[in-house]
Amino acid sequence: MRDTKVKKNQRLRKARVWPSIIMFIGFLVLCLSMIAIFVEMFATYIVGMRLAQMYEDTRDKSEIFNVLMKNEGTVEGAVIQMDKYLIEDSAVCIVNREKEQVAINGDSEPNFEYYLEIPMLGGMKIIGDTTWESGVNRVIGIRMDEIFEGAFVTVSDYEMENSSWLQEAIVNQRVWLAVPCRDSQEEYMLCVRYTLQILRQDILYVSLFGIFMFLVLLIPIVLLFINTVKEVITQRKMVRLFYLDNVTDGKNWMYFQSHASRIVNQYYNSKKTYAVVNLHLERYTNYCACHGVEAGEELLGAVDGFLKARMNRGEIFARYEGADFGLLLCCEEENMQANMMYIQKRLCSLLAELTGLKANQKINFYAGIYMIFPDMEGNRKKIRKSIDIDQCYSYARTAKDSTKCHEGNRISFFDQEMLQQQMWERKVENTMETALNNEEFQVYLQPKCSPLDGKVLGAEALVRWINPTEGCIEPERFISIFEDNGFITKLDEYMISRVAKQQAEWTIQGKKLVPISVNVSRAHVMQEGFAEKLCQLVDAYGPSHELVEIEITESAFFDDKDILVENVRKLKGYGFKVAMDDFGAGYSSLNSLKDIPLDELKLDREFFAGNDEDGRASIVVHEIIRLAKNLGMRVAAEGVEKREQVDFLARNGCDTIQGFYFAEPMSISDFVEKMENEV
Ligand code: C2E
Ligand code: CA
Ligand code: CA
Repeated sequence: MRDTKVKKNQRLRKARVWPSIIMFIGFLVLCLSMIAIFVEMFATYIVGMRLAQMYEDTRDKSEIFNVLMKNEGTVEGAVIQMDKYLIEDSAVCIVNREKEQVAINGDSEPNFEYYLEIPMLGGMKIIGDTTWESGVNRVIGIRMDEIFEGAFVTVSDYEMENSSWLQEAIVNQRVWLAVPCRDSQEEYMLCVRYTLQILRQDILYVSLFGIFMFLVLLIPIVLLFINTVKEVITQRKMVRLFYLDNVTDGKNWMYFQSHASRIVNQYYNSKKTYAVVNLHLERYTNYCACHGVEAGEELLGAVDGFLKARMNRGEIFARYEGADFGLLLCCEEENMQANMMYIQKRLCSLLAELTGLKANQKINFYAGIYMIFPDMEGNRKKIRKSIDIDQCYSYARTAKDSTKCHEGNRISFFDQEMLQQQMWERKVENTMETALNNEEFQVYLQPKCSPLDGKVLGAEALVRWINPTEGCIEPERFISIFEDNGFITKLDEYMISRVAKQQAEWTIQGKKLVPISVNVSRAHVMQEGFAEKLCQLVDAYGPSHELVEIEITESAFFDDKDILVENVRKLKGYGFKVAMDDFGAGYSSLNSLKDIPLDELKLDREFFAGNDEDGRASIVVHEIIRLAKNLGMRVAAEGVEKREQVDFLARNGCDTIQGFYFAEPMSISDFVEKMENEV
């Protein structure tokens, strides 16, 4: 499909210009041939005219010869008598049917090896040797070897008395002309030798005729030439436009696709190593939002200019879409490792330079790389088979996407694991809607227990995807995908509804009730009207608002704080309790604590992950609990797995503990059983 597209482009680029060029060349050849033919015809005509005069003269001489033969009685006698009818440098000869000389008057004899037959003047042709045919008028003995090999070399043993410069002969060529004559018994040929002269004026006429013909044809030739040049220029402009990226003014993706593919698949490049790179400008949309789209496009133009200056011979790049650029870099190091090092180094310095592209503005790029190595046979490089550039670029993008997951890492090489991850992401995206409709997402509950007696004081709702083919899928395999594609809000709403429904059912059934907290994603909590929406979802089933709590991840507190504060205040106004989840997980949100009236602080499980041999984690946890208490907040600890940790938290006044020490996340039925056993 893509190949056909590239071929179509190539055809389109070539289509308009070839017919014009071919037409021009064809017309030029036609004109030159016409000129040559006409000039030759004209020259033949002039020579023919001369020969015609001589021929007339020969016929007259044959009349005279017939009379002389009657008078003299012998051929030899008549030939001698012919002397007085011959002009200077002429000769006369009589031959019989066998072309044997019978009598001669003069210093040379006709050569029958080459001769021309002119049945009609103007249509001369070479016929080589021929048989004697009575009654056909012939010209014999033009010395073809002299005409062709010594063309236009004066054979001037005979000079005409010409006064004018134009009348001067520049070629004197001896020719023999023959006509039949007969005595009473025999048939003979009377051959007379003349000197055929080509005069200066003949050459002049022929030249003038040639020039005239050329001038007549010159106008259409010039017009056609101008037209062809115009077509070529238009074509070039079209190609430039065809490959123009209207954002950067550089090359567009169509150019990259067709040229990169041609470069890597070319025979003499097939043993080289190439890197297909996806260069992605971070937060381009934010940049445009702050500085305007025009400034954003200017920035992309500057990036294009920067890259243009950094490309080596045989390397190309183009903008893919948005703030993504595709690069094809060539490396000629000795082995795979060295080639990868070279590319890594080159991109490191490119990214470093790009960071400073705009004064007072830090610009961050990510790069994903897919390496195209030559095929190997043992230690020998083989001719590479056909490479699909689109596929390579998609691998480079996969590699780039993976860099986003790792803080601080901006360059990443593609590997098979990434491909697996990408395939998984596609699968999740393709099935998530159906899964939601089929109720494959299920609520699991992890109890929040009292550190003093282990009694269940609440629970956190955690999603599990029960997939018919994959089985139970843990949230860490799909939550981040949903966060990226926006599906997370749908899932959160679904979870809120399910929890509200469950609490309402338990209320009606008169079961022991504890608050259940639900996770809401950062994207969700930042939406205007989130609090109202949540209220609606819960009220649809009607449980008390105190039974549904909200957990907002700590990282959300770095976004637009105004909306967040407003939403939290509204939620509290509706009677929902709000907790800050994952407190202490890499972000410092102490500042938010003073602005946002939260009910609970959930200590991140990282605090309890290690051994805490030096006791530093304990000091931090102790101080956080004190801080939260002073702010009038409850404290929950997550990820608690050991008895000592429970004791420590109990001593320090932590309100609830959620961890494997007490219970893992469980199905609703298991949770009900646990609650019933407690009573
Ligand atoms: P979280 O909100 O921090 O949830 C607590 C996670 O810690 C849960 O992982 C839970 O199983 C785990 N955990 C609890 N106690 C222990 C312990 O003692 N040791 C260890 N090693 N782990 C413990 P889970 O269920 O895999 O959830 C992972 C994350 O997925 C959650 O982290 C939350 O951010 C997200 N998530 C889960 N369900 C939802 C949901 O419905 N909506 C949203 N937006 N996110 C959800
Ligand atoms: Ca949580
Ligand atoms: Ca948490």
